[in-house]
Amino acid sequence: MSKLNLVLMGLPGAGKGTQAQKIVDEFSIPHISTGDIFREAMKNETKMGLEAKSYIDKGNLVPDSVTNGIVEDRLSLQDVNQGYMLDGFPRNIEQAKALDQMTEKLGKKVTAVINIHVDPEVLVERLSGRFICKNCGATYHKLYNPPKVEGTCDVCGHHEFYQREDDKPETVKNRIAVNLKLNTPLIDYYEDKHLLYNINGDQDIDKVYADIQKVLKAI
Ligand SMILES: [Zn+2]
Repeated sequence: MSKLNLVLMGLPGAGKGTQAQKIVDEFSIPHISTGDIFREAMKNETKMGLEAKSYIDKGNLVPDSVTNGIVEDRLSLQDVNQGYMLDGFPRNIEQAKALDQMTEKLGKKVTAVINIHVDPEVLVERLSGRFICKNCGATYHKLYNPPKVEGTCDVCGHHEFYQREDDKPETVKNRIAVNLKLNTPLIDYYEDKHLLYNINGDQDIDKVYADIQKVLKAI
């Protein structure tokens, strides 16, 4: 088995977080989530961390060069010599190319990209299903937790519901579309390099994980 130097990909709602935790627990590799290492770099006031902070404080996007620097700092540490799992990086082709360069230099090249694939329309269903009772605030989900009697709140018996802005189908559709536009070229990029493994994310959590295990054990 070669080292598990992984990139984990998946659109919002595909179940990436759950699967990430299972992979880390079983294979004991550091989970490098971009959000976490950003917070850490800023807290520790590293050079790159301070630079990132200067953008974030002004409400600006952090440029790729800074993001890449923070990831490179993290991948330089000893604890990832035996493997790692990147989550939330790369987000675009420029970052993917930078990742190739830094991992080549560090001798820690990516060995597999796991893409948890779920049809975008299914994701919209999953993510836009939440609604709330107008009277008592009880929350429901169209698919996973519907009221026992359709259209009637289990808790208080009222019939009026609403959705938060973030849960509305239009908002969710837009979020998925934005992510899809970023992900698609990355998937092509890794497919060309024969590093991509597509996992069917539209099945039970345990079945999804069993498919991931199969791939990881064959690397
Ligand atoms: Zn209610």
